[in-house]
Amino acid sequence: MGVPPLPTTKRRSAAATALVRSADRALARPRRRLAAAVAALVALVAVGAVTLLDLRAPEPRPADTAPGEFSAARAYEHVRVVAARTHVAGSPANDQVREHLVGVLRGLGLETEVQDTVAPEAGQLSGAAGGATLARVRNVVARLPGTDPTGKVFLVAHYDSVQVGPGGNDDAAGTSTILEVARALTAGPRPRNDVIFVLTDAEEACLCGAAAFASAHPLAADGGVVLNLEARGSTGPVIMFETSERNAALVDAFGRAAPHPVGTSFAVEIYRALPNDTDFTAFLDEAGFVGLNSAYIDGGAIYHTPLDTPAAMDRASLQHHGDNTLGLAREFGRVDLATLDAGHDATYFPVPGGLVRYPGWLVLPLALLALAGVVALGWLARRRGRVTTGRLAAGFGLALVPLVAAPVGATLLWAGITAARPGYAELLDPYRPTWYRLAVLALAAALLFTWYALTRRRIGPAALAVGALGWLALLGVLLAVLVPGGAYLVTLPALAGALAGLVALATRIDGPWPVVAVTLAGAVAVVVLLPTVVLLFPALGMAMGGVAALVAVLLGLAALPVVDLLHPQAGGQRGTVALQARRLGALPAAAATLAAVVFAGVGLGVDRFDAAHPVPTHLMYALDAGTGQARWLSHEAEPRPWTDGYVDGDPVSVADEFPAFGHERLLAGPAQAAGLPAPRLDVLADTTAGAERTLRLRLTPQRPARLAALHVDAGTATVLRAEVAGRSVPVEPREGRWGFGVVVHAPPAEGIEVTLTVAPKAGQVAFRAMDASDGLDALPGFRPRPPDVGVVGSHSSELLAVARTYPL
Ligand SMILES: [Zn+2]
Repeated sequence: MGVPPLPTTKRRSAAATALVRSADRALARPRRRLAAAVAALVALVAVGAVTLLDLRAPEPRPADTAPGEFSAARAYEHVRVVAARTHVAGSPANDQVREHLVGVLRGLGLETEVQDTVAPEAGQLSGAAGGATLARVRNVVARLPGTDPTGKVFLVAHYDSVQVGPGGNDDAAGTSTILEVARALTAGPRPRNDVIFVLTDAEEACLCGAAAFASAHPLAADGGVVLNLEARGSTGPVIMFETSERNAALVDAFGRAAPHPVGTSFAVEIYRALPNDTDFTAFLDEAGFVGLNSAYIDGGAIYHTPLDTPAAMDRASLQHHGDNTLGLAREFGRVDLATLDAGHDATYFPVPGGLVRYPGWLVLPLALLALAGVVALGWLARRRGRVTTGRLAAGFGLALVPLVAAPVGATLLWAGITAARPGYAELLDPYRPTWYRLAVLALAAALLFTWYALTRRRIGPAALAVGALGWLALLGVLLAVLVPGGAYLVTLPALAGALAGLVALATRIDGPWPVVAVTLAGAVAVVVLLPTVVLLFPALGMAMGGVAALVAVLLGLAALPVVDLLHPQAGGQRGTVALQARRLGALPAAAATLAAVVFAGVGLGVDRFDAAHPVPTHLMYALDAGTGQARWLSHEAEPRPWTDGYVDGDPVSVADEFPAFGHERLLAGPAQAAGLPAPRLDVLADTTAGAERTLRLRLTPQRPARLAALHVDAGTATVLRAEVAGRSVPVEPREGRWGFGVVVHAPPAEGIEVTLTVAPKAGQVAFRAMDASDGLDALPGFRPRPPDVGVVGSHSSELLAVARTYPL
């Protein structure tokens, strides 16, 4: 920016001077300009590299690390035991894992117990597809008493796995981290505050273990600080992605005590928009809990699949979990826990060497200051004759083009890649996503450079730069109001850009200061925005790569004056000079376009499905034991060839026969009936008082089941009150035939007692009893998957359901 138009003159007397000048500009100036461009780019690349290196997880430490420190090698020994097999809640393998945990914690001299109960899911989310959801849970709880406690610190992870995989990362990472942190804490001086280790059960099914602990365990009665540890992938830095409200003091402790603090207030906002939930939610649902939630999330292709094994774990991520958790446990073990409610949220984000944080009340003033700065810059640029009002308006309007084009382009690019490789549709992220991520970034750069090459000559670099900063500043004000934790992403680069522009206008145009100023502003944009670009890819997956592309374009727009240095001097060139200038101006755009094509191509070449990276498929089996009719079911939208052998036609709803599956439409196909029994439904008591009939029932699966469900036909009765295992559950009516439903995960072998008080509408009340188990591969007609065909990471994968109706 800040380049005056070339003086052009038609006066013959000045012709010689003009010739000399243009020669001077064509020869001497371009070289200086090139030097400035190279210097600025090298500086920004260096800042970017340092920023990215700082985000990396630390080196895993060996088994002989000092006892007071965290060793990934020691923790990994627990990972191997915990994730040796699939250990879904209620399974014998789950019992063995629990025994290991209890043994280790007792071995450390900690008071350790198992909380064994039937508990509803967090907040009694009766909106769940199948109805009210509960689980039989067995939480492992251990206590390290503090010397002079001001409260309690809870270290929380879930030890159960999903049904189809051993949970090598999810959540053997969190569980094993806590065991190794417990060892390190007991090896040193005791903390002032109580530290409670909570290894929860049935997180995968319904967060029921955490809900049981947080709502009912005596140690949870007064609340405290929760550090929840998760893994939604196999690698990458541990990101502190969720906090309780009014987090400033917590975040301050995180910045102070976590050796590698990676976290941004923007992630909290992103996370709220995602359908994920963790045990942390169950704690926040109860009064008195505050805390931080951390996970590593890259390598999401294996999430919830059979491939989530200990071998898949990046031990640097484990070390990252451990270093931060140990640091935070010591810090929260030391401070007065009564002081943790700061009364306000903080804005925070990682920078090389630490975590920047400032109070939430600064967000809006900063955003308004940035806007004022950009307005002042535009005003001054116009006064100095660098821009006109018309060009400023055009620059502002046109800056919207790349902001829209990049996300659209990234989405179309991924649609194209998924069309070429349909198996991607069922994956959170490809197995090797790096080339695709680079392709999205190159595409964003190509669109930005093309837009710039096309608009630069007509509108001028200064008007475009100010217009772009205008969008950043405006977006900053908008975010400050709507999504305050994310405002810093645009406010700070806008502020830095406005200041740089003012410096450029206030100093000699051919001196070094304008270039230094715009490079510094570009560096601010890189430090603030690059981590978000990089972390958004694994957070949202390639299907939403457009969001990362949008942030990348914001970064490009903030650094527009540096981009401009790549182009020849702006101004009224004529003839061959202008032609050359235009050709040179098209160079960055052409290079970025080529890069996007090459990266996407390399991605398709590198990330092929094979035995180690199988294409995910989803299959279930559902048998109506009453009619003897059986079906294969799949929730794949476009079935893979393997799945296509089981299902055909249009998706159907099976909510009438298998109400616990909810109303999602599934692909279906005929199957042979297996000789499997439906769960038994026994009447323990049946009394009628006036218009109300009360049935005490026992629902007993006749085979090892992951879950059992009971539904009541709304046409035969209205359920007025319901109790499951002595707990009352909500009776809000569900849509469809089965107006009331309850789903119990990990049902005990002796069955589960359900007491229902109903207003009958007919002589008999119709109950639908259903259970679901593993064992798909033992069914008649099941053909084993070829090596390059895998299982989708879904909670309904490989489910085998049996149901029947009992009129009572
Ligand atoms: Zn999980």
